Amino acid sequence: MSEDKYVGRKFKTDLTEKEVMEDTRIYEIIRLGEKFKKIGLLPKENGGYGGNMSFRNDRGFVITAGGVDAGKMDPQKFVQVLKCNIDTGKVFAEGLMEPSSETMMHYIIYRDKPSVNAVIHVHDNIVLENAEELNIKTTPKAHPYGTPELAYEIEKTIGHEKYIAIKDHGVIAIGKSLWEAGKLVESMHDATKKLKQ
Ligand SMILES: [Zn+2]
Repeated sequence: MSEDKYVGRKFKTDLTEKEVMEDTRIYEIIRLGEKFKKIGLLPKENGGYGGNMSFRNDRGFVITAGGVDAGKMDPQKFVQVLKCNIDTGKVFAEGLMEPSSETMMHYIIYRDKPSVNAVIHVHDNIVLENAEELNIKTTPKAHPYGTPELAYEIEKTIGHEKYIAIKDHGVIAIGKSLWEAGKLVESMHDATKKLKQ
């Protein structure tokens, strides 16, 4: 859906090569990814893969790596993000791979919302096409993925919502847990499909 080609990360990572610490939530993301892939929410697009997921921990947050298929994950493809600076475009992280190109929009949500512990971003095209009819809040302007402009636009739009659409791009669900955010992604998808039958 996104019009710009996948050209990689639009920020620089200060990456310490180190495997991410064991956490059961890593396996929760792996299972969610498999489920979302099956229903078409993680499409291969423009030479990259749509969708990324993260959860908060006491050191920052753990996110799926960039350029990987979030529907086919293993623990080596997760990255511990420690710190971000949106304006200088710098991410401090630990992992065996670079973090998702959309790390900044996850970061901004965790920064603003202390009660949020999970962020899920998928490319749900059926919801996106019907967002207005469904009364789903949508970012007013389209911005290229991974840019500070997109992160700020999401920050402005989200308010108290737990699920918003990103114009011409995808959707974001947030929650206290991966279970909560994942449930939201699924139920919005199912409800839209039903409506359109
Ligand atoms: Zn995306």
